[in-house]
Amino acid sequence: MDTKGRILIIDDEAGIRQGCCRVLQPQGFKVEVAENFQEGVSKVETGLYDLVLLDVMLPDGKGIDLLEPLLRRDPETVAIIITGYATVELAVEAVRKGAYNFISKPFTADVLLLTVNQGLEKRRLSQEAGRLQKVENEKVELTRLKNEAEKLNEFKSTFLLMMAHELRSPVSGAQSLVRTLLRGLAGELKPQQQELLSRVETRLDYLLVMINDILTLASSKSIDTDQPLEKVHVSLLLRQVIESFEVEAKSQQINLKFPAPGKLPAVLATEKGLNTVLRNLVGNAIKYSKPGGTVEVTVHKEADRLKLCVADNGMGIPAEDLPHIWEEFFRARNAHLSGIVGTGLGLSIVKQYVDRFGGEVGVESRVGEGTTFTVSLRTR
Ligand code: ADP
Repeated sequence: MDTKGRILIIDDEAGIRQGCCRVLQPQGFKVEVAENFQEGVSKVETGLYDLVLLDVMLPDGKGIDLLEPLLRRDPETVAIIITGYATVELAVEAVRKGAYNFISKPFTADVLLLTVNQGLEKRRLSQEAGRLQKVENEKVELTRLKNEAEKLNEFKSTFLLMMAHELRSPVSGAQSLVRTLLRGLAGELKPQQQELLSRVETRLDYLLVMINDILTLASSKSIDTDQPLEKVHVSLLLRQVIESFEVEAKSQQINLKFPAPGKLPAVLATEKGLNTVLRNLVGNAIKYSKPGGTVEVTVHKEADRLKLCVADNGMGIPAEDLPHIWEEFFRARNAHLSGIVGTGLGLSIVKQYVDRFGGEVGVESRVGEGTTFTVSLRTR
């Protein structure tokens, strides 16, 4: 049963114990009694009480000496001293040892109830303050952990950036040496040498794609984060991106379409970031399409947003892989098996930028039918 509070009365006078019980029990308090110091000690050390009424003079000890074990067990317990001769010295000693208040014998039922209720209210308030303090401490700890995680993340990005940067020049150096050899500029190659060197070239191409993706990822995470958003004209940027892919699309017999959009408002982004987003989406659409396929880029206004769609009728993405494509280094199973080169970093870069622009990115896809990526950006 719910009680209004657990109270222990330690007093050698039977009249006081019984009188207190008569007043307190009908009010809903759960009351226990102890009639001497020893009994008080064992109750205090085994039970849990919200409030203890403590006689200062007991036949076998001083009530005040019970304050220490009582408060050690629960520092929020309210101790009220019952005394027949309240003196300043006694008050000072009791308060120093943690007592909350005094009540002088003889006392009325009203005085007892008032003192007990005030004591319990004080307990409730200090418990509440303790809880709030705990929440506050947890908040401080969470902020500390968040800052630490951010620092680690920053360190990771800087490390990736440095590593990729250092790797890029030897790898592209090796790539041009291999190309020189393949062109026969250092002497004619036997067919087997030609074949082996072509495989080295493919591997170096892949390595360079990976290094460039890591560089873009790391810079999208670190360098650019402080750059304020600006108004970027999408049609112009899209036109440049489409033009830069025309040769590639043609060589893979992909029909790359970009119907001229009407007049469009600018979007909130960074030019470099939006360029990276568009290049990744259009590049993927071409990369994952078959010869004869179509890639279409459209853009239209929707309320205070601009919606960009990059649609292809290529290999599509298996449904179980769709939720993971934004993760770093994730590649769908069919892309992996197809032998098409990729690092699984492009879309995580796209997501990173679009999040920073306060936009949204989505995807719809069916294996064997095609994929449509949608980017919605704020115009204000
Ligand atoms: P990747 O370098 O592998 O292309 P991305 O991060 O750009 O890395 O894309 C992650 C994965 O999402 C790809 O490996 C591929 O499985 C899938 N994907 C992305 N775009 C397309 C697309 N247009 N058609 C089919 N699959 C796609």
